[in-house]
Amino acid sequence: MVVGKPLLTVEQISKRVSELAGMISADYEGKDLLAIGILKGAFVFFSDLVRYIQTPLSIDFLIASSYLNDESTGEVRIHYDIREEIAGKNVLLVEDIVDTGITLNYLRERILRQGPESLRICTFLDKKERRKVDVPLDYVGFEIPDEFVVGYGLDYDNKFRNLPYISAFRKRT
Ligand code: 5GP
Repeated sequence: MVVGKPLLTVEQISKRVSELAGMISADYEGKDLLAIGILKGAFVFFSDLVRYIQTPLSIDFLIASSYLNDESTGEVRIHYDIREEIAGKNVLLVEDIVDTGITLNYLRERILRQGPESLRICTFLDKKERRKVDVPLDYVGFEIPDEFVVGYGLDYDNKFRNLPYISAFRKRT
């Protein structure tokens, strides 16, 4: 297993996360926000992002998976569900990476059925060229090429989540 040089450095990440939080704070000025982190991958991004957001907010999490190692199964499973009431809230869904879009599209439609006042999506990474399902993204940290990446919460086989930067990952052959 090879983890290469940083694709995104600690400095680049921190600058961009504070920019995203600035945009979110401006857009939600005077409104309450319910930020929902999609675990496990978004746990680092989520905790950095919410610390820069100036608007009063509540948080919740859900655990979803659509991936088996580096192969998408195309099927979304919820392992832990949102406990906060969604109806009437301004919901911000926070994801680590959008690849095919299958996971977010499924979660978005599921939340919309619960009648939020508004729903926006913030993703740290966007692998646009891999998209199979079109899903509206309101805040995007970085667009990245079609490479499997780890670090900053993202894993391979539940490892490398603790790397403070994003790196491309290759299995040694
Ligand atoms: P999608 O449903 O958009 O195809 O996949 C989204 C999920 O796949 C992400 O939340 C993440 O868990 C996983 N994923 C997609 N691309 C990558 C990647 O490059 N690295 C890692 N570690 N996970 C990825």
